[in-house]
Amino acid sequence: MKRILLIEDEQVIVEVVKDYLEVSGFVVDIATSGDVGLTKALEEDYDLMILDLMLPKTDGYEICKRVRQVKNIPILMVSAKKEDIDKIRGLGLGADDYMTKPFSVGELVARVKAHLARYDRLTTDSRARQQDEVRIHGIRIDKPSRKVFVNEKEVLLTSKEYDLLLFLATHPNRVFGKEELFEKIWGLDALGDNASVTVYVSKLREKIETNPSRPQYIETIWGVGYRLNL
Ligand code: CA
Repeated sequence: MKRILLIEDEQVIVEVVKDYLEVSGFVVDIATSGDVGLTKALEEDYDLMILDLMLPKTDGYEICKRVRQVKNIPILMVSAKKEDIDKIRGLGLGADDYMTKPFSVGELVARVKAHLARYDRLTTDSRARQQDEVRIHGIRIDKPSRKVFVNEKEVLLTSKEYDLLLFLATHPNRVFGKEELFEKIWGLDALGDNASVTVYVSKLREKIETNPSRPQYIETIWGVGYRLNL
């Protein structure tokens, strides 16, 4: 069930909005002062926030700004004055929608549903993209097609070069010894030895580094192994 945080100090509005949202199947958490609302918004997980502008302690401007710095949930701002809404828009605090009091609760719930649906789509899309793609600075690895792009230009890698790069890129900032890499990429029973790792790393550098003799991506940790830097 979707959780909504309602930060509002007018008791009548709190009750009506809460009832309406609960009837529509949402879980509603209430804060009637700005400081409590801000703490809840930052510390707990909500799917959407309805935020009144004029609040005791901390006002809606401040809450919106602070929450937006760390969360991308939809924020619906409510104010008694149309001028305030224009002001919030002008400030670019990152609210997704605005309503002027008095508003129709039915309209509010409709907007809540629309924003949640849009937010769901966005997060599902980006999660799917994240799973299919690994990005480290200018390098983009597209897993379904096993293609690698450096600054959006495709580079052609052999199968083992690709496996090695993908392995290092999915474990960034960790140092791997040659033995460990050999085992991971070639498997225990493979022919060859740890020296192959050195060869493959240098081939990879030729293809992905701007200056292979001074690598930015795959760093050599002398006496230990290699690390791909994030
Ligand atoms: Ca108020």
